[in-house]
Amino acid sequence: MNVTELLIDGKRVPAADGRTFTVVDPALGDPIAELSLAGKADVDAAVAAARAAFTAPEWAGMRAADRGRLLYRIAEAIRTDGERLARLESLDVGKPLKQARADVEAAARYFEFYAGFADKLGGSTIPLGPGLIDYTVREPIGVSGQIIPFNYPLQNTARGSAPALAAGCTVVLKPSPEAPLTPLEIARIALECGLPPGVLNVVPGDGETGAALAGHSGIDQVTFTGSVATGIKVAQAAAENVVPSVVELGGKSPVVVFADADFDLALGAIAASAFGNAGQTCSAGTRLLLQRGAEEFLDRLAAHADALRVGPGLTDPDVGPLVSARQRDKVLGYLDLAREEGATVRAGGGEPADLTLRCGYYVAPTVLSGLTNQDRVAREEIFGPVVTVIEFDDVDDALEIANDSPFGLSSYVWTRDIDKALRMAHGIRAGQVNVNATGVGTGVELPFGGYKHSGWGREKGLEGLDSYTQTKNVCIGFGNRT
Ligand code: NAD
Repeated sequence: MNVTELLIDGKRVPAADGRTFTVVDPALGDPIAELSLAGKADVDAAVAAARAAFTAPEWAGMRAADRGRLLYRIAEAIRTDGERLARLESLDVGKPLKQARADVEAAARYFEFYAGFADKLGGSTIPLGPGLIDYTVREPIGVSGQIIPFNYPLQNTARGSAPALAAGCTVVLKPSPEAPLTPLEIARIALECGLPPGVLNVVPGDGETGAALAGHSGIDQVTFTGSVATGIKVAQAAAENVVPSVVELGGKSPVVVFADADFDLALGAIAASAFGNAGQTCSAGTRLLLQRGAEEFLDRLAAHADALRVGPGLTDPDVGPLVSARQRDKVLGYLDLAREEGATVRAGGGEPADLTLRCGYYVAPTVLSGLTNQDRVAREEIFGPVVTVIEFDDVDDALEIANDSPFGLSSYVWTRDIDKALRMAHGIRAGQVNVNATGVGTGVELPFGGYKHSGWGREKGLEGLDSYTQTKNVCIGFGNRT
């Protein structure tokens, strides 16, 4: 198998120590690619390339409007190559083809959305009185170190790099070893569109690679997406160098269904959020809070979960495999724990019955009821297609349970009563609240980030640019100042 090499300074290069790693198809467990594994020396080289590119005339001297046009070109080139990218993402991560196609479109949208801001990052003037003119300039922060997880490699690559490039920064990106293929493709496409060498470098590798990047003294900012445990280490490493970090971490997002909700509307949306991407979505609504008296909804959700088609991502099922044997075993471990904690398994509960799927890393869509908010399966992020159900009485009860969580990423409320909707929307401590909706939470236009252990900082939307600029104040005296 040919080795896919690192992308540093616009060139494909092997790892300095020659190490490689194997990428596996989660639908079959077969190897699909061999990649160079970036070590510390490679991270050093990538950061040096990004530093040099940051001040090189080809990039630093590019007019903001031209930078924007370049980002538009990248967006269009992603769409042109879309079907191939979607198939590669589906093969690598295991996600159903229609989800991978949606991820391609989202990746294109990030570049398109931030392209429009490249020439609008102006400052302001501040009135200080006669003889003084004061203004601010928004300057690019420098070299951004970006570390992303396995679950949305296309989207996460675009989510961090597009605003960074729009602001005039340069990037060193470290994808997950479990899903590194499409980030390299996005960087290749960007180069072909005319992005100068060294502006976007990709160094696939493991935790050691990530640690070398997060703690590198040559970077000016860190954007991390991943688990809470790793996020803490990354934030500490950034703090040692006194550089800012954005940490987008895990969740166990509540879905509050009142008895007066439109069950027909809620059902498909809740199932898509919880079981889409095989439940490997940070903002998935996996903690269902169901009002007493709405048990019919639970029966319908369980029947819906049982009816979902599970299979290889490339056959475009409803639910694909999990990304790795490690991830599947973690989820199966939680299902054993659920039984120990006295949960009632309403759907799924283990590997799918279809024995032809046993060579891949599948878990059947699962619904667990009879839990309290103190049970570990109802509190901890499982990161698989598993919904836990807890009952509540009224708005106060629902708010107390929803907020009794270390996480605060997303939340979902289903009710036809505007008063309940607003009390929930303003009472929930989370970065996102969706009322009678789930899809809008994925829009690139909206600021996205966590409260509490779900992290800090915001990506996406206008706020996503804040991490990549810093404000300089310029004060000038003139005339007679005696
Ligand atoms: P992870 O924390 O295991 O790994 C994330 C990345 O960090 C990977 O690239 C990994 O190689 C790297 N890494 C590992 N150890 C490191 C270290 N010591 N220093 C620096 N980097 C290191 O997470 P994962 O299993 O890949 O992804 C799942 C997690 O990501 C879930 O918790 C999920 O909720 C979270 N996530 C959050 C968001 C969000 O926007 N909030 C989005 C997607 C995923």
